[in-house]
Amino acid sequence: MRAVVIHAPHDLRVEEFPAAEENIGPRDVRVRIASGGICGSDLHYFHQGGFGTVRIREPMALGHEVAGHVEAVGTAVHDLAPGDLVAVNPSVPCGQCPSCRRGERNHCEDMKFNGSAMRFPHVQGMFRENMIVAQERVFRMAAGVSAGEAALCEPFAVALHAVRQAGELTGKTVLVSGCGPIGVLVIVAARLAGAKRIVATDITEHSLAMAARFGARDCVNVATGAADLAPFLEGRGRIDVCFECSGNAGATLAVIGTLKPKGRMVLVGLGGDCQMPMNQIVAKELILCGTFRFDEEFALAADLISRRTVDLSPMISATYPMDEAAEAFAHASDRKRATKVQLDLVGRHHNRQAS
Ligand code: ZN
Repeated sequence: MRAVVIHAPHDLRVEEFPAAEENIGPRDVRVRIASGGICGSDLHYFHQGGFGTVRIREPMALGHEVAGHVEAVGTAVHDLAPGDLVAVNPSVPCGQCPSCRRGERNHCEDMKFNGSAMRFPHVQGMFRENMIVAQERVFRMAAGVSAGEAALCEPFAVALHAVRQAGELTGKTVLVSGCGPIGVLVIVAARLAGAKRIVATDITEHSLAMAARFGARDCVNVATGAADLAPFLEGRGRIDVCFECSGNAGATLAVIGTLKPKGRMVLVGLGGDCQMPMNQIVAKELILCGTFRFDEEFALAADLISRRTVDLSPMISATYPMDEAAEAFAHASDRKRATKVQLDLVGRHHNRQAS
């Protein structure tokens, strides 16, 4: 089978890839992968060879946001049939460690997460033609959902988990800093959670237009119109909860002053180190918290998309055939015109769809 494999920064190859598993176990499902979304971490591997201390040390297939069609099922799988569209959860927690036993499986001490170089040998990714996975990792999508929408379950699960860190959002004023795919999905999740007013900040007009389309009421370009944040900095701040999705230190510092006393900053984006204004955090009793991946939110994401509670399709900026992975990665890297860029991993039809 073929896969999209990163060898070194800017060395991305579409090449033959050994199938890790040959036989379907009784509780396994073989999935013909149809759609794969390019995530910020895929872009970090592509441009820098990794992030933080995580580095590619051997060729690795990328991809952890995928959906596809069931090709075959094991003898003990009764609720899935060939042809079903499924989203594939990329996380395989061990189920045994202290974190797993506490029910915090996203913090598993022995996590295997597809397309991640955190452990060695790396856990290979899912930008490939097919794979065999345990049935509990696949979520059937309703008829009429596209493979591209189904592939949004993973990043939407990240956003749903992030919003859960914020506590009660009903009636709250929320600021989302950084409106790439995760920021946009956090806007969607915050609205579902009852947020009354959403303020979006970013440095590109494309991202802010997308934020507005998904329900942000105030959109501030902090590169060209930072003064527009003034109303939210008034008094001791006007924002209840801030979701920082850019991972950028400057962006984080630009918005922390908007938080009300006892306000909460949820750090979603991965970035480098950042000097924090300690006096402000202490004097306003601000709460800083991180959020990492997701757990049961994957099933919730699949359900919300399947029930058409949310229509996430407008955030798909373009879909490229597998053979044009390099072009797809270039497009995904251009924040002036991309929100979510996906790969068509079926590769039967080679017409590019751009919206
Ligand atoms: Zn574990």
